[in-house]
Amino acid sequence: MGKAKKTGMGETSTEKQIYDLKQLLEISKSLNSVIDSSTLIEAILYTCMGQMKTLGIAIFTKKNFDATSFQLNRNYCGFDLDGSSDYSIPEGHPFIKLMNTLNTCVTIEEIQGKIEVDDSLKGLISLQPSLVVPMKAKNHVNGLLLLGEQITEEPYSDYEKEHILNIAALAAIAISNAALLEMTTTDMMTHLKLKHYFYTVLMEKLEISHSQDMPVSVLMLDIDFFKRFNDTYGHSCGDIVLQMVASVIQQNTRAQDMAARYGGEEFVVMLCDTSEKTAAKIAERIRASIENLDILYEGQHLNLTISIGVAQYDPENDSTARVLVDRADKALYNSKQTGRNKVSVAG
Ligand code: GH3
Ligand code: MG
Ligand code: MG
Repeated sequence: MGKAKKTGMGETSTEKQIYDLKQLLEISKSLNSVIDSSTLIEAILYTCMGQMKTLGIAIFTKKNFDATSFQLNRNYCGFDLDGSSDYSIPEGHPFIKLMNTLNTCVTIEEIQGKIEVDDSLKGLISLQPSLVVPMKAKNHVNGLLLLGEQITEEPYSDYEKEHILNIAALAAIAISNAALLEMTTTDMMTHLKLKHYFYTVLMEKLEISHSQDMPVSVLMLDIDFFKRFNDTYGHSCGDIVLQMVASVIQQNTRAQDMAARYGGEEFVVMLCDTSEKTAAKIAERIRASIENLDILYEGQHLNLTISIGVAQYDPENDSTARVLVDRADKALYNSKQTGRNKVSVAG
């Protein structure tokens, strides 16, 4: 907050106020250009670090669009964190309800004066923030910013509180947009991405792959005899199995990769900076993990297998993303034809 030394709103110079308004405009532009949630959290943290004279900044957000609690992001903090605490506050907690009604920053003392402190709030209070700032979009809290003590050790002025409240409001809109994108591109049952979004991102990656000479590979996966599985144990058992398979696939992909539900019991994975040789190893790991799954359903132990096809992007011959995915699909077909529960690499 630089040179605003006085505590009252009226005592801050006009130049400073104009400067801060320009800053808000820049912050709005930069935060709204980030759509990936974890990059956005980092951008918010660094923005606040740049704007406020404190070494302690932390942020509580929902981990996904359908999460029911707010959790502390551990990527940057400056507060003393306890490794074993999950610092989680349920969305229906009286404190969150209080923050929904307030349009101001609060101190720990003010919180303690207004609501009863229970176990869910102990984590937040143990951090001893100087200020808790609600991040509100459409009148709902979607995050909390925590500020540590100012480097000057002075209390935050009304002007500074208003400035951080404005930044928090901009951050909240960006978070809300990112959550909306996540929601509209995610398959609700498996939490993997949807096919059309997969293609959008794959097309972008193939362009980068072409210009930077970086290999990209694709896996197509299809559960073996899934219809039989549904017919024997019922559709809801089938749904649980789909979720378990999706979770194995997700666990085997990195942040820069993308796994999507291609259709009913078919999945597709994009592996960035990955040759077909490495992709085949990853596919084999997924195949083996699924073969080894011990699914307990209504007292019965169930097993299943999956067939996989692998293809590496060939810029000379794969004219579109579709052509690449079709080659992976042909390799998958080969796995099916030659006994299932196996990985085949496209020729
Ligand atoms: P193959 O080894 O040749 O792939 O045989 P399959 O039985 O897996 O393949 P098929 O295409 O004949 O059947 C796929 C089945 O997947 C049919 C459908 O009932 C089931 N399925 C598709 N979507 C869902 C879903 O969302 N939930 C459940 N439970 N089943 C689904
Ligand atoms: Mg199948
Ligand atoms: Mg199928």
